[in-house]
Amino acid sequence: MIKHLRTGLMTASILALSTGAAFADYELNILHINDFHSRIESINKFDSTCTAEEEGKNECFGGAARLKVAIDQKRQELTGKNVLLLNAGDNFQGSLFFTTYKGAAEAEFLNLMKFDAMTIGNHEFDEGEDGLATFLDKVTFPVISSNVLAGYKSKLIDRIKPSLVLDVGGQKIGIVGAVTNDTAEISSPGDNVLIGIDVDTITTAVQDLKKQGIDKIVALTHVGYPRDLAVIAKIPDVDVVVGGHSHSLLSNTAEKAEGPYPTMVDNPGGYKVPVVQAGSYSKYLGDLVVTFDDSGVVKSAKGDPILIDSKIKPDQAVLARIKELAKPIEELKTKIIGKTDAPIDGSRESCRARECQMGDLVTDAMLDRVKGQGVTIAITNGGGLRASIDAGDVSMGEVITVLPFQNTLSTFQIKGADIVAALENGVSQIEEGGGRFPQVAGLKFAFDRSKPVGSRISNVEVKEGEAFVALDPAKAYNVVSNNYMRNGGDGYSIFKTKAENAYDYGPGLETVLADYLAAHNPYRPMTDGRITEIAAATEIKPSAQASTDTTAQTATPDVKPAEQTKTETATPEAKPAAEAAAGAETKHVIAKGDTLWGLAKAIYGNGELWKTIAAANGNPVPEKLEIGKELQIPAK
Ligand SMILES: [Zn+2]
Repeated sequence: MIKHLRTGLMTASILALSTGAAFADYELNILHINDFHSRIESINKFDSTCTAEEEGKNECFGGAARLKVAIDQKRQELTGKNVLLLNAGDNFQGSLFFTTYKGAAEAEFLNLMKFDAMTIGNHEFDEGEDGLATFLDKVTFPVISSNVLAGYKSKLIDRIKPSLVLDVGGQKIGIVGAVTNDTAEISSPGDNVLIGIDVDTITTAVQDLKKQGIDKIVALTHVGYPRDLAVIAKIPDVDVVVGGHSHSLLSNTAEKAEGPYPTMVDNPGGYKVPVVQAGSYSKYLGDLVVTFDDSGVVKSAKGDPILIDSKIKPDQAVLARIKELAKPIEELKTKIIGKTDAPIDGSRESCRARECQMGDLVTDAMLDRVKGQGVTIAITNGGGLRASIDAGDVSMGEVITVLPFQNTLSTFQIKGADIVAALENGVSQIEEGGGRFPQVAGLKFAFDRSKPVGSRISNVEVKEGEAFVALDPAKAYNVVSNNYMRNGGDGYSIFKTKAENAYDYGPGLETVLADYLAAHNPYRPMTDGRITEIAAATEIKPSAQASTDTTAQTATPDVKPAEQTKTETATPEAKPAAEAAAGAETKHVIAKGDTLWGLAKAIYGNGELWKTIAAANGNPVPEKLEIGKELQIPAK
């Protein structure tokens, strides 16, 4: 039956050649991924490496072994049809496979998938032009970019073409690449490589293709979904945009989708351009079908990304090879990256309640990494610091134990007033030991836990030059945080709603810390009083558990009896005292953009549980949540 169908199709295309217009529509299947970010191994729902246990429970997504099978299956399904497999960049950075093999592991597995073309992402320059040159030596598919302009001294000279032309089923398809314009600021292309302006270089490359008679043109970009919509899809004669960089999941069914798949954009040429992107981290395979008319104009486009979940069984040969490559990674974990003169305190008790040594170290490292970009303030959540480091040699394994989440640096601009609001969120759950407690650099502040949630912060100062000056609520500051908080994690929804020019995919926090320790060797742990707890002497009872951190004399990890009583009397549904004291129930101050669904999703990992929060707070009207009001968050 299938064979007969295929014969039928072939007859149709032969007819098309002989009789012209009536059969001249051309259908092109575009499979695509972007922002693979070294997810050689499968990922869990938090986008970090899946454990064997999670794999056993069928809770893992993606990874090279699964992605290869998904691509092979789809290709099988499309046998006899016109198919392109495209890669929209940022294959580098994100796991220890990259840290160890510097792109060679990514090249090996991407080769197995047989991409037809790849565009360069900003992270492809994370090891300088040398790292990219080595990757180009290894890959067996073409890598293009119109705005990566290699100078005569560069190892990349003459190796990266702006575009390429592929013959797919007897039709010529032009593919033009481009990387984000700010690559020089957020990665390390070096002095020999100039990054041109994407829109200019794509326009030139498209005109060149048109002169060669190519009328079907795909822009394969790594500039982000907003820019693909606003600029790239409007370039004359661009027919399709396959993008990356913003990790945007476009979908017609997924709840978290940023837009429809494809998103259709009006081109000034009077036709519509489909724009697609497929999430990130090998969790999705983009699957687009485009129909062109006989003059190369898109008549229709449809599709949806394929979720690469545990239903897709991983390729066994690839798994075996991953296992082999993973062996030296265990060795890497034993690699000594530096030394510390004394233990670095990163305990929960310290880092979720007051300025802690690990908090100062990690935020200093974060700030140091991006100060060249004009960033002056670093904020990270105390709960993201998972361990202390003992005195003496520091291994990479210890650093990963402190920062195990594969979170990335996130930079953005935000107003002073919003920074204060973020700090208020940070100290809003101090009684419960909430992980949101803010560890900071380039910033000083004081807090008073005896005050109501939302008005505990005072004396906020920012570093300008060498001096600390009062924070200006109206001024926009350049801030570095982590991608988890920037997307509203730990109650920092203000970073999600108010941040401007955000870039969430900088280097991994663990890499940043390791590099900083190597550059400041030996490291001397300290706290310098950047966070002060204002103690209302009569209200704060002395700490029962003696703190080892002598600099935080005023801090107390204990819950004040008065506050706890207040909580219980305020809510008739409150849990029994013992459970509440154990931190089972928490509070959340409503910020702009909060929804009950979103809160339930962030807190319980399941949006469906929004009714639990609603019920605990007298069932407020979901669309009319009062900003600044406190919600009781019951235990799951
Ligand atoms: Zn990128």
